[in-house]
Amino acid sequence: MVFVLKPRVSQEKIGLFIRKLEAEGYSTFISTGTEHTVVCLIGNTARIDVDAIVENNDIVEYGKRVTEPYKAVNRTVHPDDTLIQIGSVAIGQGFFQVISGPCSVESQEQVMEVAKSVKQSGASILRGGAFKPRTSPYAFRGLQETGIDFLVEARKETGLPIISEIMNHTQLPLFEEVDIIQIGARNMQNFDLLREVGRCKKPVLLKRGLCNTIEEFLLSAEHIMSEGNTQVILCERGIRTFETMTRNTLDLSAIPLLKQKSHLPVIVDPSHAAGIRSLVAPLSRAAIAVGADGLMIETHNNPAEALCDGAQSLDLIQFAELMTDLRQRVAFEGKKMA
Ligand code: PEP
Ligand code: MN
Repeated sequence: MVFVLKPRVSQEKIGLFIRKLEAEGYSTFISTGTEHTVVCLIGNTARIDVDAIVENNDIVEYGKRVTEPYKAVNRTVHPDDTLIQIGSVAIGQGFFQVISGPCSVESQEQVMEVAKSVKQSGASILRGGAFKPRTSPYAFRGLQETGIDFLVEARKETGLPIISEIMNHTQLPLFEEVDIIQIGARNMQNFDLLREVGRCKKPVLLKRGLCNTIEEFLLSAEHIMSEGNTQVILCERGIRTFETMTRNTLDLSAIPLLKQKSHLPVIVDPSHAAGIRSLVAPLSRAAIAVGADGLMIETHNNPAEALCDGAQSLDLIQFAELMTDLRQRVAFEGKKMA
């Protein structure tokens, strides 16, 4: 971390500033230029609030981090890709997986039919929302515990591991049987929830918030990892921009950047990114081309009648066709798909 001091600051004030930093346990390195003095701070600066230091010390013009504030998720501390193992299904380190299923679990029949079909098409993990975060309080909010039970039944029948979204930590006991806990975009910065899932032994899929930067996304993953849970999968699902023709804007550049900055697997959700069925296939192809480790695609046995997100859901035939195409592209990228 470096602090650039204002021009013509007295040596006495510089000395005071440096002693204050050193008293907090940091080493300093001073570079004196013709106009400005630069104070470099050496040590673990993750806890430092750069803006507070600038505000509280009138000799400081600005401060800048030169190392990233996240440690556990950082590739520099863990150069190899992380592999996440869910039973016999592996994500990362060259293993590519497709998660598929309905936005919401609506009935036992619905989830069972979708599960059998997506498995047949090559999906390796079944998704389904039981607790739904809905913008309107009058929209369908999910079957709750019953929804989880239906997913568990579908796993028994198909063998597919299951993923579902948790909305708050009091629901954790209901997720005992769930293989991967999903933290949705709206909860990406629910730090209490991140801490609680960080204490679990289960893999966590963390979705990027609608309006969050890549650094904030990585820091949320850091919250989970700093509690001891190393099994985190990152999911880019589009961010809110000025564009209104799509539900969100898929930030494709986030995928290679996240993979450069972090060792965690990165998957893409083209369904929520676009909100439009016809964009799911091209965005899936784009995600593979930029290095994603997997996809999460919403599917429904009857999208026209879906209780949630029907417009972005593929029907079961469309999904099967897409998977045939994707399989070749994944192989072309040198990745292995179940
Ligand atoms: C979902 O996956 O069903 C969901 C609600 O996604 P997001 O949190 O990305 O909006
Ligand atoms: Mn959805």
